Amino acid sequence: MVQDGLIQRRGLMLVLSSPSGAGKTTISRRLLADQDNLKLSISCTTRQQRPSEEEGIDYHFVDEATFQRMIEDGAFLEYAKVFGNYYGTPRQPVEAALARGEDVLFDIDWQGTQQVKERAGDDLVSVFILPPTKDALEYRLRTRAQDPEDVVRQRMAKASDEMSHYTEYDYIVVNEQVEKSVSRVTSILQAERLRRSRQTGLHAFVNQLVEDTAQA
Ligand code: 5GP
Repeated sequence: MVQDGLIQRRGLMLVLSSPSGAGKTTISRRLLADQDNLKLSISCTTRQQRPSEEEGIDYHFVDEATFQRMIEDGAFLEYAKVFGNYYGTPRQPVEAALARGEDVLFDIDWQGTQQVKERAGDDLVSVFILPPTKDALEYRLRTRAQDPEDVVRQRMAKASDEMSHYTEYDYIVVNEQVEKSVSRVTSILQAERLRRSRQTGLHAFVNQLVEDTAQA
C-alpha cells in the first residue's frame, strides 16, 4: 500500500503544450530520462517523418486512410488536425499505463488537451510552455533547420494563436533556461502525484494508522 513513502494511487496524465519551438521536446526528454514512473504517449501522425525521427519512438507514422480507420474504430483518446496533418493519441496504451499506476506524458496541442480534459477530468494535469520572447521562438524554429522556410513562417504565424490558449492550462512555465524549466515541471509533477484525491490507497492506509495508533 505504501512504497518508498508513497501511497498507492492512480496514474496521472501530464500534458505539455506549447507553440513549436518553445523547447517543449527538450523538456519532455529530460523528464522522461529522470522519472522512472513516467512514460511518453506516442502519437500517430500523418505528417512526413523528419530525418532525425524514428518510427515508434517519436511518432507512429501512418497514412491518412489508416488514420481515418483508427478514428472510426475509436482507437484515439483524442485527435486533431495541426498544420494540415492529423495527430492522435492511441487510447489503449494510455489506459493500460494509468491502470498500472504509471504516469503518462503527452506532447499534444490545445485542441487535444481540451478533448482529454473532457474525458479525463481530474486525471489531467496540463502545463503550457511559453518562450521568453518572440525572437527566442523564431531562433529555435530556424536553428532546428529541418522544416522548409514556408513551414517556419507558417509555424510563427500560428504561434501567437496557439499561445492565446494559455488560459486553458493549469500551469504556465516560461522556458528561458531549460534546467530551470525542467526543475519547475518536475515540481509540478511531484506535487500533483501527492494530491489526496489521486491516492486510492489513502483511506485504508490512514484508517489502519489511526486504529494502530489508538491501540498503542
Ligand atoms: P510536430 O509536427 O512539430 O511534431 O508537432 C506539431 C504539433 O502537434 C505540436 O504542437 C504537438 O504538440 C502536436 N501534437 C503532436 N502529437 C499530437 C497528438 O497526438 N494530438 C494532438 N492533438 N496534437 C499533437
